[in-house]
Amino acid sequence: MLRTFTCGELTEKNVGQKARLYGWVDSVRDHGGLTFIDLRDRYGKTQIVASADFQAAIHRGELKTEDCVQIEGQVALRPKGTENPKLVTGKVEVTKANIVGGPKSAFHSASSPLPFEIAKSRETNEELRMEYRFLDLRNPVVQKNILTRHRIYQIIRRTLDKHGFIEVETPILTKSTPEGARDYLVPSRLNQGEFYALPQSPQLFKQILMVSGLDRYFQIAKCFRDEDLRADRQPEFTQLDMEMSFIEENDLFLVVEELLKEITKEVMGHELKTPFVRMTYREAMARYGSDKPDLRFGLPIEEISEIVKNSEFKIFKDAAAKTNGIVAGICLPQGASISRKEIEGLTEAAKKEGALGLAYFKVEDGKLDSPIAKFFDAAAQSKIIKKFGASPGDLILLAADERAKALKVLGGLRHPIAQWKNLVSEREFNFCWVLDFPLFKWNEEEKRWDSEHHPFTSPNFEDWKKYKPANELGKIRSRAYDLVLNGNEIASGSIRIHKKELQQEIFETIGLDKEETDKRFGFLLKAFQFGAPPHGGIALGIDRVITILLGLDSIREVIAFPKNQKAVCPMTGAPSPINERQLKELGIKIR
Ligand code: ASP
Repeated sequence: MLRTFTCGELTEKNVGQKARLYGWVDSVRDHGGLTFIDLRDRYGKTQIVASADFQAAIHRGELKTEDCVQIEGQVALRPKGTENPKLVTGKVEVTKANIVGGPKSAFHSASSPLPFEIAKSRETNEELRMEYRFLDLRNPVVQKNILTRHRIYQIIRRTLDKHGFIEVETPILTKSTPEGARDYLVPSRLNQGEFYALPQSPQLFKQILMVSGLDRYFQIAKCFRDEDLRADRQPEFTQLDMEMSFIEENDLFLVVEELLKEITKEVMGHELKTPFVRMTYREAMARYGSDKPDLRFGLPIEEISEIVKNSEFKIFKDAAAKTNGIVAGICLPQGASISRKEIEGLTEAAKKEGALGLAYFKVEDGKLDSPIAKFFDAAAQSKIIKKFGASPGDLILLAADERAKALKVLGGLRHPIAQWKNLVSEREFNFCWVLDFPLFKWNEEEKRWDSEHHPFTSPNFEDWKKYKPANELGKIRSRAYDLVLNGNEIASGSIRIHKKELQQEIFETIGLDKEETDKRFGFLLKAFQFGAPPHGGIALGIDRVITILLGLDSIREVIAFPKNQKAVCPMTGAPSPINERQLKELGIKIR
């Protein structure tokens, strides 16, 4: 046996036993006559006390940190007062230890000088960390993220299996799918001039599996989107992809809630409260100015258009008078002590969101104080205070503009304010479902309607019957939903269309002609002609969920081999040129 114990295993129970360990030299410490080595592997660290021979070899320079070595010795209690209560193995050490084989033997795999100290890998330049990811992943703190990810996968499999879900793999070499990003393409050698697309998601396959009667599907699926990489995106990422037949929204929500409950309980010992808050898209926009509201802190938006529409303050009056205008604000408890500089900071933040400026009131006993307070009579002032439920010492920040703009401005201020006032608790997990998204969104550039989610999303039928004939497409709600965690969209899905005619009508509405849809989605439409069941599903962004749950700040921390902002893997060097012969086989010429 190459090892009889791992480096995280020995305790008092093993005292007196012989032990053979195999691992990496974490540190070597010379203490007068004694030389100590910490040997490390995935399971932990064990303290080794070198024999006289071994010590002499170390003094000859035959052992360096990060060498991978086999060590034999005898388990003994550490001398009183030298125990390390932080380690499982902290009460014992392996004494009279010898290294197996000489420095040239197969049992001793020496390490070159390190590009960074393993325990401090997270503090080095990220490019270097990624180039030496194999070393970075030796850092127990980094390795823990990958181990946690594994644990979460097991909980997913166990929980979904219990609910009758089956795990099915769908193709990676496939046809363009409809998530709307640019595809990664793979040239076909056997069919020159033709290309596969890497899936942006398994969307169409999972729907087809429902037509096949598989009833409940899941997959931990790799998805590929060739987008310019914004801050925390990867060209390939992982979704927990799910689909269920014969369901309504709530059936799916219950499964996802239970799954997240299991994960947070088992992985972080945290009891999630279910059911999660549910909120319509309209409510989310009106109350929080965002379709992914962070509900860890209050700061809801209140509209005061009615109260100020007859005031003397022109900007408010004009905004309130417009059909599409609004005056609204958020109240910051005990924010009245805000300095001029802080007000300017918030005004800058508001301008970034598109505001012209930011008005404010400081709340005093029954009245308001502000350069513009004089424009509002006592009755209006007290109505405003009441509307916000404000107390003396509070600060009310206000925006007046077109509805969508003003809400966006105020929504954009919630997070900076919450951070500034320390209202965000980092270790809180606040989940919320956002429902009833619009079915379509207007594409101003191309002057046409697009699907807000994707074109397979079912409309709300009442809206469809009412607004489709009237061509008021912006008013039609869909049966799409998002799951939001601490202000981040972590999952998105919908009840689907399962009738061919409706599916075709939706395609037409977003400007896809029959030829185009036949070419791209003909197989789905064909499948829908053979008794498709009603169905719906969701996809959870696994990388992001794990990142947030672990309180990390980049999804690259939870991906074993991430790519950088240029979609390059600094370790392997992918992508890279291919040779002339390969190009020729593919019938491709580089322009
Ligand atoms: N395929 C969708 C996405 O990747 C999710 C879904 O509708 O299930 O966003």
